[in-house]
This record gives sequence, structure tokens and C-alpha cells, in this order.
Amino acid sequence: MTDNLSSQRRSWNMSRIRSTDTKPEIVLRSVLHRMGFRFRLHCRGLSGRPDIVLPKYNTVIFVHGCFWHQHPGCIEAVRPKSNKKYWTAKLEGNVKRDMKNRRALRREGWRVFRFWECQIEKDPIRIAMRVAKHLRGIAQESTEYALPPRAELLKAAESRAGCNKRR
Ligand SMILES: [Zn+2]
Repeated sequence: MTDNLSSQRRSWNMSRIRSTDTKPEIVLRSVLHRMGFRFRLHCRGLSGRPDIVLPKYNTVIFVHGCFWHQHPGCIEAVRPKSNKKYWTAKLEGNVKRDMKNRRALRREGWRVFRFWECQIEKDPIRIAMRVAKHLRGIAQESTEYALPPRAELLKAAESRAGCNKRR
């Protein structure tokens, strides 16, 4: 992003960046799927359109971009220096809206997970395992899932995410 773009043009560019089906989201989905969980995506009927919805478990998952959703303390969440007023309003608005959405979902009885893209990029399997532990608790399943080897899981997730052009 260069600074000689007019601010209007820039915000137009930014608005076109896809916020669903990002690579971390696809990777997490792929790992959960391999673990045997089935889910729906971007449910329109739910507050904030959670990225992953597991109706059977009353569980929803948001995969949040660190910049747009302002991951606290994350280097990716640094705000642009120019056009400060615009960005502050926009990003703080996003954070408030996220909080409202999470609250509404909890009131409706959903368990809400929120993960940051940088967390998933670092270790998607660890994140998926956290979700799996919760889901298994609900299902009261005592048996461990036959989980393919870690390397295999990651390779499958990567190849699935490869069709995404964002990164
Ligand atoms: Zn982050």
C-alpha cells in the first residue's frame, strides 16, 4: 500500500480484500474436518456470520484477521499512520461489533471460539485440538480420534489453502 493513493481509493482497495476463506481459516477447517467434525460455513442467520459453525455442538468459531479485528498486542494490528481518524473509527467499530456479536451468540446458547490468524498460522493443529477437546467433551466421547500424523494433516491443509490467492 503506497501513500500516494488517495484515501478514498485506498479504502476502496481495502474493502475489496476478502475477509472470508482466508488461508488460516481454510487450514483450520481442513484440520477439523480430518478430525471428523462436520460444520457449516459463514452462517448468515447468526450474529456476525461466524466462519465455522458446528450446529450439532452449539459451537461457533471466528477466525479473525489481526488487523481488521485488532488483535491486542499483535504486530499485525498496528494502525496506519495516515488518515488516523478514519482508521480509528473503523477499527474500533469492528472491535465493538465483534464484542456485540459474541455476546448475542452466547445469549442464544452458542459456545463462541475466537482465534486470531497469527495463532493459526503458528500452529493450526494446536488450535484445532483445543476445539476438538471441547467438542469431545460435549459428545462425551472417550475415544481419541484417529488423527492422521501431524505432517500429513498439515500437508493436506496447505494444499487445500493453496487455491486461495490472498497470500
Ligand atoms: Zn495476531
